[in-house]
Amino acid sequence: MPLFCKQCNSRRLPEHHEAEKQTMWLCKKCENFVDMEDTIIREQTDEERQEVKRKLKEFEKTINFQDEKMIRRKGVN
Ligand SMILES: [Zn+2]
Repeated sequence: MPLFCKQCNSRRLPEHHEAEKQTMWLCKKCENFVDMEDTIIREQTDEERQEVKRKLKEFEKTINFQDEKMIRRKGVN
């Protein structure tokens, strides 16, 4: 498995992609994907970069406002 990037030796992260119907390994530094054979499939698109940022923001929000969220949920009903 391509756990490390050949270009920069950073850790690659596996991501399943529906479009490609396979797991691709992302290097966050080089911003490209390789397949299981460590062959470069393509670069990470701007859209995907934005998506990663968005998810990270949401994740941070979840951590920071977990207590607040629980209070809000109680208030819904
Ligand atoms: Zn890399």
